[in-house]
Amino acid sequence: FAPWDDPAAKPLIRFETVVKRFGAFTAVDRVSLDIYEREFFALLGPSGCGKTTLMRMLAGFEPPTEGRILLAGEDISAMPPYRRPVNMMFQSYALFPHMNVWDNIAFGLRQDKMSKADIAARVEEMLALVKLEPFAKRKPHQLSGGQRQRVALARSVAKRPKVLLLDEPLTALDKKLREETQFELMDLQMTLGMTFLIVTHDQEEAMTVADRIGVMNQGQLVQVAPPAVIYEQPATRYIADFIGDVNVVETKVAAVAPDGVTLGCEKTAYPIRIAQSVDVKPGDSAWLVIRPEKLRIALEPPVPAESNIFEGKVWDIGYLGDLSIYHVELACGTRIKVSKPNVSRLVERPITWDDKVWVSFAPDAGVVLTH
Ligand code: ATP
Repeated sequence: FAPWDDPAAKPLIRFETVVKRFGAFTAVDRVSLDIYEREFFALLGPSGCGKTTLMRMLAGFEPPTEGRILLAGEDISAMPPYRRPVNMMFQSYALFPHMNVWDNIAFGLRQDKMSKADIAARVEEMLALVKLEPFAKRKPHQLSGGQRQRVALARSVAKRPKVLLLDEPLTALDKKLREETQFELMDLQMTLGMTFLIVTHDQEEAMTVADRIGVMNQGQLVQVAPPAVIYEQPATRYIADFIGDVNVVETKVAAVAPDGVTLGCEKTAYPIRIAQSVDVKPGDSAWLVIRPEKLRIALEPPVPAESNIFEGKVWDIGYLGDLSIYHVELACGTRIKVSKPNVSRLVERPITWDDKVWVSFAPDAGVVLTH
């Protein structure tokens, strides 16, 4: 499933150079984005970056100041919210407290003047979908947080919108329930074959549920890609820092070839080779950006000792059970983090504080960034 890679695929939703200003303040800054049918798309960014505003414009709650929003090729920028085949599930769930679960789910269907029999069939189907059949007669205050969340979800998909917008839908749940619910959301989206657009500031949540992630910063969309690409090939240092744990090493470009670059680091005995074509020239400053789990750490130098090896000393260790995080001070003075699965002491002597270590990595394990 990768319609975004198919030049012939037509997007379901298209944001066309959309701008939203509140007075002199630009909340959304020239965002162009295509989202496809059946896609689970996550808008990710820190608080205030404009992700909710972008979503509210798609729902029709805010008109764009500039640009257009298209749905299946039709300009919906001026269409009122209730006419859009788009529904939004709010962070607060907004359930009616005096109505039971059944009536909460039926509410929108009744407004649409659907027949009684059709409403009953649809509500039963929705209750089954979110596994809440035994709770149909309960009021929201008689439910757990997770159950309330599922009622809200059932109610928002009952009318079968083309697009479901989810504004931080899981923040009220505790960590374990949140993780379970992420998988339920993915199941639901696949079963219904709907397009889901989720807004979140939680990068793990975005990576778990989404087919593609759009990272926002100060109103701009700075990278749109599947989770693995965002994680492994972040376009900028901001994105690298925002997603997961990362090491950033300041370097200078020593040589450039069509298939890669060689970097130099003061006091590093071996050259650093990165298999990536980057638009840089010798002498340029650059950052080598590399995830802790992409680095190898050992008490002996790797053989053959050719490139991408740093000598260092362990100054701290974080034990996490399945793995340990080693904080290593390299000979060039930079401190980096290396993660390594923990194995039995019978297999190898554990690395400990003040050990002299060798940190190495493959040429495709890191990326070179200049901004
Ligand atoms: P959060 O995760 O905190 O909700 P967000 O990324 O969703 O953040 P938005 O809610 O889209 O951010 O807000 C983006 C910016 O626009 C914020 O600085 C906010 O204060 C501003 N903003 C949003 N709505 C309005 C409004 N109606 N009037 C004025 N400023 C607004």
